[in-house]
Amino acid sequence: MRIDIITVHPQLLESPFSHSILKRATEKKLVEVNFINLRDYATNKHRSTDDYAFGGGAGMVMMIEPIDNCLKALKNERDYDEIIYMSPDGELLNQKIANQLSLYKNLILLCGHYKGVDERVRENLITREISIGNYVLSGGELAAAVLSDSIIRLLPGVLNDETSALSDSFQDDLIAPPVYTRPAKFGDWSVPEVLLSGNDKLISEWRHNQSVIRTKAKRPDLLNP
Ligand code: SAH
Repeated sequence: MRIDIITVHPQLLESPFSHSILKRATEKKLVEVNFINLRDYATNKHRSTDDYAFGGGAGMVMMIEPIDNCLKALKNERDYDEIIYMSPDGELLNQKIANQLSLYKNLILLCGHYKGVDERVRENLITREISIGNYVLSGGELAAAVLSDSIIRLLPGVLNDETSALSDSFQDDLIAPPVYTRPAKFGDWSVPEVLLSGNDKLISEWRHNQSVIRTKAKRPDLLNP
């Protein structure tokens, strides 16, 4: 899979992709993530990518021209499955969307800044808008990193244990059961006996029951959407 992230602040994206699971995924060539600097596609001599809002008011607006140039250049090279604008009023990201996007080959994520992008970009140049939550961030970079992470960890071979992503919360509309590691006893706090039993069938039943109990207690909305 290839993810091209269009941004005016590529540095903001570097760290999340340079460590741990995402770094390994890139090294194993399971994913290629490119940070595309929108300024490289600016047309004026100041390389500006934003301008004052028509009609006045506070805050700059990202211009359509550099974005159009950038998208044209990328689309010349290959076909994209989706061109996604990160936006607080987009579809709310959930596990189902991450699962769906993880099946695609080429994605573009467009990060906004300031007041966002010229509306004509949203109307004509993108295919989808995704939000990571009902709050406003300063820019789309952190949102793009969150979305990318949720997708990349699902790609076959990225997690060591292939089944691991399937047992995470929100797959099957259940949240994950509690997990424990050594020591089996820490002061008065013991690990549930069944996990030490070595009986795989009992353990998987216990885990499923715990998932159901937890989902009922913490996220009943998942059981009755
Ligand atoms: N004026 C806009 C907010 C702009 S915030 C509004 O009120 O809707 C600047 C940029 O940050 C946006 O263009 C978007 O790319 C990104 N952004 C902010 N919050 C986000 C969220 N919850 N999810 C995804 N992207 C977000």
